[in-house]
Amino acid sequence: VSFGYQDIDAREKEGRVGAIFSGVASRYDLMNDAMSGGLHRLWKDQFVARVKPQAGEDILDMAGGTGDIAFRMVKSDAHVTVADINQEMLDVGLDRAVKRGEDRLVWSQQNAEDLVFPDRSFDAYTIAFGIRNVTHIDVALKEAHRVLRYGGRFFCLEFSTSEWPGFSEIYDEYSHKVVPKIGKYIANDEDSYRYLIESIRRFPTMPVFADMIRDAGFANVKVEPIMGGLVAIHSGWKV
Ligand code: SAM
Repeated sequence: VSFGYQDIDAREKEGRVGAIFSGVASRYDLMNDAMSGGLHRLWKDQFVARVKPQAGEDILDMAGGTGDIAFRMVKSDAHVTVADINQEMLDVGLDRAVKRGEDRLVWSQQNAEDLVFPDRSFDAYTIAFGIRNVTHIDVALKEAHRVLRYGGRFFCLEFSTSEWPGFSEIYDEYSHKVVPKIGKYIANDEDSYRYLIESIRRFPTMPVFADMIRDAGFANVKVEPIMGGLVAIHSGWKV
């Protein structure tokens, strides 16, 4: 077996991402508040409002981490499965669930690129701030399409690039100087947060990512930019 450079890079990325989230799992929720000034809560509320989970629906929250999206969706009595590659993140989520007395969620360790679920298992697939960490995004999108039922919907919340005039300069300054420092003080991990900021920079623009979703087989693909595209909700249907 020979590994091309692509594969070496891929394995490196997987290891790196794994180490980051294992390292920060216990402080992950605090870090999100600190870095976004609490804004991530509003973005997540808006995201779940778009998903409109219905009672009895089967929903897969992929890269669900500590369950922020799943806890919001389960309020509608949907059957929500939280899947994440990182058991430490899931464990923090499970602890939160126990503390809240929330026993309706299913927690499952899974790689977004290779899901154990049979074809057409879910009515909706959500992924929030997760796809950018996946090594082969095209493969994960195809898996999303495979596990959805016909009429099923795909929703992705992810950082993008704000087109607000003047915003990108301020944001660049903030992300390169301030975020790693917050990472250092709260999670004692400056490098990981540098890496995460870099992964935001490298992520495809909104129209390019929309095309990738279409390439995976989704129809009626839409983009909803938030704050000029600092964050974006991409959605599509399996028809
Ligand atoms: N969705 C949660 C939220 O919005 O708070 C967690 C987002 S967190 C920034 C990214 C998550 O993606 C981490 O929990 C990480 O373990 C997960 N992840 C990274 N690569 C993955 C993969 N290939 N398959 C599944 N999960 C993955």
